[in-house]
Amino acid sequence: MKVALIGVGQAGGNVTERLARFDADMGFGAVQGALAVNSAEADLQSLDVVDTQLIGADRVNGHGVGADNELGTEIMQSDIQQVLGSLDGRITSSAEAIFVVAGLGGGTGSGGSPVLVHHLKQVYDVPVYALGVLPGRNEGALYQANAGRSLKTLIREADSTLLIDNDSWHEQGESMEGAFETINGKIAQRVGLLFASGEAVEGVGESVVDSSEVINTLRAGGVSVLGYATEVASEDSGENINTAMSVSRQALLTGTSLPDATAAEAALLVIAGEPDRIPRKGVERARRWLEDETGSMQVRGGDFPLDSDRLGALVLLGGAERSERIQEFMDRAREAKQAQDADEERTDPAEQFADDRLENLF
Ligand code: GDP
Repeated sequence: MKVALIGVGQAGGNVTERLARFDADMGFGAVQGALAVNSAEADLQSLDVVDTQLIGADRVNGHGVGADNELGTEIMQSDIQQVLGSLDGRITSSAEAIFVVAGLGGGTGSGGSPVLVHHLKQVYDVPVYALGVLPGRNEGALYQANAGRSLKTLIREADSTLLIDNDSWHEQGESMEGAFETINGKIAQRVGLLFASGEAVEGVGESVVDSSEVINTLRAGGVSVLGYATEVASEDSGENINTAMSVSRQALLTGTSLPDATAAEAALLVIAGEPDRIPRKGVERARRWLEDETGSMQVRGGDFPLDSDRLGALVLLGGAERSERIQEFMDRAREAKQAQDADEERTDPAEQFADDRLENLF
């Protein structure tokens, strides 16, 4: 699937950069263009391979908005024409989807990404998806509240919102910086494989995934989730039937970007590996298992040829917002927001009013 990426804020820029780099290093050619947008100049300067666009210079002079996501919303709204202008020519007709990438707990990405998605949907015919990073449990109440609010708006505006929880995909005991490195690397590899799996591959049979299968899986809207796992595989595909099952189970049950999200309206199972090692029977069995496990009647499947001695399973869930994990997160965000509102009411009721108006702006 040919995609254009737009990262908003620090997390958005970092993840976009890693994705663009992974796609180029692997020679996939799925990423057609990548732009990082931020109100913090220093964050943009740390990026090498993506194009950059500073916003809000008249308001914050390149210093960022802190964790003020209302200000993030405002500056994206004020500078939207500039951002759309710098995308002109970068989002070519070859792009089959646009991904807006952002950390939802901060300021620029949290407040700015829903505004950007809203405008992109008016300009472009292709689906506009969000790739949102949720704050980990220990990141503090403001981050939770910001993310809750941003997520609600994103779900409404985007064709689907792919969520990555910062508590997933990293090792225990890592420093925050080290954890970001690890998580960003894993996001790049997994989301990068998803993009690439929707690419036509020369000389391979019919079961290669088509871009439309990714798009159809995401058609349910709401929240989407990605899972991944790999295991060493035998050279003989007949011996890999159990391996196909076990990587698929791990991908869904322990390897998802949002832990414990298993209920979905639609799913896609991509088995990646050397074509000779991929067991047809095992893939079919895994697909049926995924149908039972997700409660979805729409489970698509396909192979992705990859030169490796391992077999990998990539599971994409669409319409996964009814999962317990999202409920738990929204509860956490609601509590944080209520505590924040109570504080604000005590200090300045007028500010509270401005807050509500802003929420209804888009
Ligand atoms: P912004 O620049 O104002 O949009 O704010 P950030 O992008 O820093 O958003 C803050 C949220 O993103 C917090 O939940 C951080 O933990 C998370 N975050 C910041 N940088 C990264 C990163 O490089 N990778 C990941 N996975 N999360 C990040």
